[in-house]
Amino acid sequence: MSHPSERPNSADPIRGRTTLGDFELTILSDGFYFLDGGAMFGVVPRPLWEKRAPVDAENRILLGLNTVIVRTGKHTIAIETGIGNKLSHKLRAIYGAQEQLPRAFAAAGIRPEEIDIVINSHLHFDHCGWNTTRTPDGRVVPTFPNARYFAHRGEVEHGHLQLERDAISYLSDNYDPLIASGQMTLLDTRPGEVTRIAPGISVECFPGHTAQLLAIHIESGGSGGPHACYISDLIPTTAHLDITWGMAYDLDPLRNIEERKRFYARAIPERWLVLFTHDHHTPFGYIELNDKAKPVLSAEPSS
Ligand SMILES: [Zn+2]
Repeated sequence: MSHPSERPNSADPIRGRTTLGDFELTILSDGFYFLDGGAMFGVVPRPLWEKRAPVDAENRILLGLNTVIVRTGKHTIAIETGIGNKLSHKLRAIYGAQEQLPRAFAAAGIRPEEIDIVINSHLHFDHCGWNTTRTPDGRVVPTFPNARYFAHRGEVEHGHLQLERDAISYLSDNYDPLIASGQMTLLDTRPGEVTRIAPGISVECFPGHTAQLLAIHIESGGSGGPHACYISDLIPTTAHLDITWGMAYDLDPLRNIEERKRFYARAIPERWLVLFTHDHHTPFGYIELNDKAKPVLSAEPSS
């Protein structure tokens, strides 16, 4: 099957590099995967979203799985860990999962042992899959043996409920072994609150997609210095910039709209470099308002 949005360079596991003050950012990919286009755009009619996200023969659109490696000089941080290698055979086939992140690390010359901090924005399977690795003999082991992992306590609790609505999104092997071993720290960050993880690295709660979705702030040079933000599934791709273009997966669509407004109110005037979790072709960019006051990707180069 041919995928219309696939470009020649789609197989490159390194999706981009940039600097932010003294920090180095490298975007690694666990590969692309496919989700139903309608589910990705909620109540937006297909003739509108299809212009921005072309579908394949099964009405699916191509999505990326972007892990951001931040080298601060003091720490080497991994934000998100893709789908991983623990899906069932059936689910792996449905999503077209590629399990590419280890190859991306090798291509970038970064060893998993170098990572000392891992941050998960939330615990859906496509954001924390390589937190752990299934070995050939079936054991589940930490992929980053020297890292302290961070996730929100509310996400773990929600995942453990295994609700009819989203049980499929939560795979406990991605976090339970790390909690049991003490390697994962659970955060209690409340909506709108910011929790500092390391110098220049903090998380802020932006509810809507899930009740405790965390954005990751990257600030080099203190306040007033350059600022990047991994906004995760609040705004999953550059096709989702309109405040009302949410996903059907979002648990609280109204809150999602309000939180997008709150995000843009700072990200646009303060010139944040926005990192997109699921955009395979445009992993980061600046956002500005067009002449109709709609948020759009800025033409200004960001790398
Ligand atoms: Zn999600």
